[in-house]
Amino acid sequence: MAELLNINQATRSSKSAQKDPLPITVHLAAGLEKIGLAMKSRTWRREGQAGLGPLQRQVLTLLRGKPDHSAQVSAIAQELVVRLPTASEAVATLERKRLVKRHRSHRDGRIVTVELTARGARACAPTVGMPNQLAAATGALTSTEQVAFLKGLMKVIRTLQEQGEISVARMCASCRYFRPYQHDDAAQPHHCDYVNAPFGEQALRLECAEYEPASVSQAKESWERFNNGRKVAS
Ligand code: SF4
Repeated sequence: MAELLNINQATRSSKSAQKDPLPITVHLAAGLEKIGLAMKSRTWRREGQAGLGPLQRQVLTLLRGKPDHSAQVSAIAQELVVRLPTASEAVATLERKRLVKRHRSHRDGRIVTVELTARGARACAPTVGMPNQLAAATGALTSTEQVAFLKGLMKVIRTLQEQGEISVARMCASCRYFRPYQHDDAAQPHHCDYVNAPFGEQALRLECAEYEPASVSQAKESWERFNNGRKVAS
C-alpha cells in the first residue's frame, strides 16, 4: 500500500513538473528576486536603526572596493546606475553620519571626490549585515555547487553589463590581468598577472580591488576562452 502511495505521489509530481509551462530561467529569476527582496528588507530592518539604507550601503561598498577608498560622485552615480542627484543625496547623508568625507577640487569646483572614513569602512565591512548572511547561506552548497553558482553569477552579471544594467563589474572575467585556463593543473587552471600566480575556480573574483579593465578585444578573447573552458595553445 505504502509503495502504491509512493508511486502515485511520484507520478503526480512528475506530471505537475511536466505541466509547468514556465522555463527554468523564470524560476531562476524569481529566486534571484527573492534574494534581492530579502536583502533589501533585512537591510532596512536591521540597519534602519543606524539609518543605513540600501543605496548608502552600496556607496560604502563601492568605495571600499576602490584601491584608495575614494571616487568622484559622478563615477559613483555611473557605477551604481543611479541619477547624479540621487548619488549626491546619498553621499551627503553618509557625510552627515561621518561615514565619508567630501573634497571639492580646487581647480574645478564641479568635481567632488568622496572618501571613505575609518568609521565608514567599519560600517560596510564584509562581516557586517546581509552579505554575511548570504555567505552563510551559500555555505549550504557543496563546493562543486558553489563553483557552478559563482561562474553562473559571473555570466549573469556580464550579460547585465552588456545590457547596460550594470555599468562596472570589477570581476576577473573582464580584468586585464586575467589569463583563463593558462595552466594544466585542473585545481588551479587560471592565472592572475597582478599577483603573478595561478588560481582555481573557487577564487574567481566578482569584486576585486586590484581589478583593471581589459581592452574590448582582450575582454572578448578572455571571455570566449573562459566560457569554453579552453586552455591556451602553447
Ligand atoms: S587582479 Fe583581481 S580581478 Fe584581476 S585577474 Fe587578478 S584576481 Fe581577478
